[in-house]
Amino acid sequence: MLDTRDFIVFDEIDKYGPQTLSGTYEFAPKELEREELAAVGPVSIEATAKKGELAGEYLVDGTSRFTADFTCSRCVEPYPFANSSAFHLRFRPRLQVAQENEEVEIAPEDLDVEFYTERSISLRDLAVEQVQLAIPMKPLCDENCLGLCPKCGANRNREGCQCEASVVDDRWGALAGIREQLAKKKDV
Ligand SMILES: [Zn+2]
Ligand SMILES: [Zn+2]
Repeated sequence: MLDTRDFIVFDEIDKYGPQTLSGTYEFAPKELEREELAAVGPVSIEATAKKGELAGEYLVDGTSRFTADFTCSRCVEPYPFANSSAFHLRFRPRLQVAQENEEVEIAPEDLDVEFYTERSISLRDLAVEQVQLAIPMKPLCDENCLGLCPKCGANRNREGCQCEASVVDDRWGALAGIREQLAKKKDV
């Protein structure tokens, strides 16, 4: 027996009209299969589901909110992140789609379509999906994050390491060499 508070049940929409559900769900970062996610707080989600225009189609509009700690892709330090986003989903029965011409190109407006086989949607699954969508491809603690020194691994945001200084020294050294050569040419 489904816990109706955690599931959008299409049969209930058919019987009673649009349904609004809300929930707060906890996740282990592992569940989301993104190593950039160091920690994630509870995810709050609210969704209203109603019948769509097509037979068997349901529209789900809602918002989700969560806070998390991401691992910066440059300096590997965790940093706090807060997200609040709206979503608009369209659920269509999978069977019906298979019967249609499979060569049909998916129009841009159909990109938010998801296909269902069971006539209920887990609110928790929707919440997971929203968190996954909100995680950037390359999370950065700051756009100007200096990252780690490739030589010694020092976090350049916090400490200047000697490697950088020696690179600069080499440049000055090269310049000094050019000066020497110029000086020699003058002497000739
Ligand atoms: Zn960083
Ligand atoms: Zn270094």
